[in-house]
Amino acid sequence: MPLPIDYHMHPQAHSIKPYTPELLQPWADTARQRGLKEIAFTDHDRYYEGVDFDQIDKLREANPDVKILAGIELDNDPVSGRAGRAWVEKNWDRLDFVLGSAHYLPGDPEMFDQVTRKDEFAQRDIAADCVKYVAELNGMIDRGGIDTLSHLDLMKIHGVWHPEGGLLPHFQSLLERISREGLAIEISTAGWRKPVGEQYPHVDLIREAQRLGIPFTLASDAHSHAQLAEEYGRLSELLKQLGIREVASYEKHRRRMIPLD
Ligand SMILES: [Zn+2]
Ligand SMILES: [Zn+2]
Repeated sequence: MPLPIDYHMHPQAHSIKPYTPELLQPWADTARQRGLKEIAFTDHDRYYEGVDFDQIDKLREANPDVKILAGIELDNDPVSGRAGRAWVEKNWDRLDFVLGSAHYLPGDPEMFDQVTRKDEFAQRDIAADCVKYVAELNGMIDRGGIDTLSHLDLMKIHGVWHPEGGLLPHFQSLLERISREGLAIEISTAGWRKPVGEQYPHVDLIREAQRLGIPFTLASDAHSHAQLAEEYGRLSELLKQLGIREVASYEKHRRRMIPLD
């Protein structure tokens, strides 16, 4: 059976495109074709003006066979982050699901995960950057309003960081915090199309999350409906190898576990 959920996608991609049936219906159609039972729209919070809950309701009425979650990917953008958070707080009751992400390091106005920055990061002390990155995520958890952390080890995106002892020591305390807070993390296929060539997060982190009882959502981070459930065959094999037999499903921020078989 195909994997049932994709909980990270961007109908607006990288600009404000107000939600309309023309924008959203192809996502429901592709979800159905790929055997997805549930999808979550999680546009970047900087494009919240395009999100229209009434349009999501209409899409739900037109597609009763696909569960469609209203969500957002809230990040630590130094410019738009504050307004994004205020929007999330204001619309909390209409949102099903909020992803928390850090795409920025302190004092740097550019996203660190832009693939054009690979050469620069090859010269940097990424372990030191990662300490700052984890502090940013901890700050977001402190402020609340998040259901699931996305692409947890995004610092590896450029494929130039190979720390001795692996990635787990850099994320151990964060994983313990996530477990204490009762949050989930996503397993994302997006890393397979990035220079690192590996899902987020690394299997060492997934195994530790399993040990800590952290639930998982599944994600493609699609920026086009054509990318929905991308590499889900490969993801399904990985989940089998790891013995992951259930994933988290959300409705109005309430989580329940659904079986994979
Ligand atoms: Zn992201
Ligand atoms: Zn995203």
